[in-house]
Amino acid sequence: MNNTKTPIDINMEIQYVKGVGPARAELLNKLDVKTAGDLLEYYPRDWVFPPKIEKIRNIMPTQEVTIAGVIESIDFHKFKRPPQLEVYLADETGICRIIWFNAGYLANQLNVGIPIIAWGKVNLYKHNTQLVNPKFKVIEQLPQNEAEELGGAVYPATEGLSSAQISRIIRNVIDELSEHVHDFFDASYLKEHNLINRKLAYQLIHAATDDEQAAKAKRRLKYDELFLMSTAIAVRRYRAENFSTAQPITVSDKLDSRIRSRFPFLLTEDQNNVIAEIIEDMGKQKPMNRLLQGDVGSGKTVVALYAALAAIANKSQAAIMAPTEILANQHFLSIERYLRNSQVRRAIITGGMKSKERTELLRQIKEGEIDIVVGTVALLEEDVEFKNLSFVVIDEQHKFGVHQKAGLRKEHSPHCLVMTTTPIPRTLAMTVFGDLDVSIIKHRPPGRGKVITKWVDPTHREAAFEFIRQRLKAKKQAYFVYPRISNIDENDLIKAAVNEYENLSKLHFKDFSVALLHGQMKSDDKNKIMADFRSGKIDVLVSTVVIEVGVDVPNATMMVIETADRFGLAQLHQLRGRIGRGQSNSYCMLFSESENDIAKQRLEILVRSNDGFDIAEQDLRLRGPGELFSTRQHGLPDLKIANIIDDFELLSMARRDAFEIIKADPAMQQAEHKNIRKELIAKFEGKIELVDIA
Ligand code: ADP
Ligand code: MG
Repeated sequence: MNNTKTPIDINMEIQYVKGVGPARAELLNKLDVKTAGDLLEYYPRDWVFPPKIEKIRNIMPTQEVTIAGVIESIDFHKFKRPPQLEVYLADETGICRIIWFNAGYLANQLNVGIPIIAWGKVNLYKHNTQLVNPKFKVIEQLPQNEAEELGGAVYPATEGLSSAQISRIIRNVIDELSEHVHDFFDASYLKEHNLINRKLAYQLIHAATDDEQAAKAKRRLKYDELFLMSTAIAVRRYRAENFSTAQPITVSDKLDSRIRSRFPFLLTEDQNNVIAEIIEDMGKQKPMNRLLQGDVGSGKTVVALYAALAAIANKSQAAIMAPTEILANQHFLSIERYLRNSQVRRAIITGGMKSKERTELLRQIKEGEIDIVVGTVALLEEDVEFKNLSFVVIDEQHKFGVHQKAGLRKEHSPHCLVMTTTPIPRTLAMTVFGDLDVSIIKHRPPGRGKVITKWVDPTHREAAFEFIRQRLKAKKQAYFVYPRISNIDENDLIKAAVNEYENLSKLHFKDFSVALLHGQMKSDDKNKIMADFRSGKIDVLVSTVVIEVGVDVPNATMMVIETADRFGLAQLHQLRGRIGRGQSNSYCMLFSESENDIAKQRLEILVRSNDGFDIAEQDLRLRGPGELFSTRQHGLPDLKIANIIDDFELLSMARRDAFEIIKADPAMQQAEHKNIRKELIAKFEGKIELVDIA
């Protein structure tokens, strides 16, 4: 035995790590820390390096200060707007008022008698000093001398395991753990990119002693995360472009006018531009991989149908895949409308088909007797075989996920058009859809009415209903949307579709035809109700979010959204897109009694803006990207330390670097890329197709 210490085994169960044990191991497991190695990437959520502590007596307005003291009193003023948490903090020289807005949750972390440090800008309140929304840290005891170190990493903690305890555990082993970290860039690359070495980055992320060190560590680890993600995307894109061939689709002038004559309107400038992009892509021997973004009702389906007809005219088949049966039906109906009397042979395939029917349809698809097939995920089943599929439309891809899409491409390499109504800010499009080209339809076709959105106060409910009744009498139609199908029990105060349906049909709208639609109904029943609503037999459709995407009934000009605060902003915007599809003005009425500030802000944004991109940006700001669009849904691991909004510049750099490397050395065989390749395989194994580099 030599006497150099062997580094801790990174696969060691967490409970055997020094200072952990079974009880803490259980808590750490809850935080997703299962092995010693997991500690390395259990990143702090913040770093706190407070400057010198001032005596309360000496602090002056406008100064940035740090004070330390014991909490004398805590009052939570819940009913103030916004709610305030008021704390008085005392040291041996004086007392200082501290106010935190919208921070009721802090009340659980603070208690009378405990010492804290707090830092922020001083201002005056009734002639005394106060801090507003300062940062703070609970400390074990008041600092005895100024040299005492209070700073360091702040970890996401859990009940029974504080940030300080986690910090101690990690600091104990960080030197040993970091012995397992190897760099995958060489020194010159690091220098050129102004990055510190990887081992040091892992040490400093946990044990930095000042902001500068923490910043350097963060920069390196964020870069790595963004770089590896971008490399995976670059590989995926390289594969799509170089390892699969597609049938080139050509469009002569004659074909172009033949297709256009199918539409009873002139295409808009945006539609024409997008079609030009699509036809250019589809003319090539490599598969198109394009994302078409456009707000609801902007005319995407028409564009998709144009491309499908082009594919069919080139003696091949086209498929349109929708996320739900209602939408598949609707796509099919609109295709039927445009293709009336045409020779194009079309079919719809759904999950609920009888097996005899299905077998016959599959045979026709396989023999090429069908030109265009519309369907749900049923299109992806093993036994669906095409004779010659050259073009696929995927509507609302994020509802499927990448792996399913990959299924459809298993045997064929069709040109692929992904359509989405979710306005994806540029930052997200770059990463999440980094292997797609993006087209946008910004302006909706002309001649549409406005959509007027109101947030209705509960006292005006009856007036709103009367307004709706008047318009129903004029033969307009209305949606009522609820966040839930039915109530859980009688204490459940959130309005639910099934329960309110009774009220609306028997009471408020008893003179009209009211129907209920929700996801737990049989698909035949759903289709029947949608058909009756479309044809005007039903005046009021009471529903859940099943009507969210793509439903197109131009005569429906009213929408009531109950307990609107229960929906996300993007979702509300999607819902609202169901109206405003005809020529007359439409009305969206939001009901909400929420006192939650974020919820209120969301509804205000919706009342103010009708622009999906604008709304998406604001939503991102309110909620962060994770909720709106998780990278995991796209076959990429979630980011642990980088954030594609805040770290956009670093992302752009990492992306450029990654694409350059893959362009120069697609299989990452060169000596300086071998370690990147290894890291990539370790990180993405099984998550994306990396066969050509693995
Ligand atoms: P999306 O798929 O983006 O929701 P659609 O293609 O379904 O939009 O179009 C929405 C509505 O607008 C449809 O009723 C369609 O017939 C109509 N429409 C599409 N393009 C035009 C256009 N250029 N001019 C007039 N109406 C159009
Ligand atoms: Mg549509």
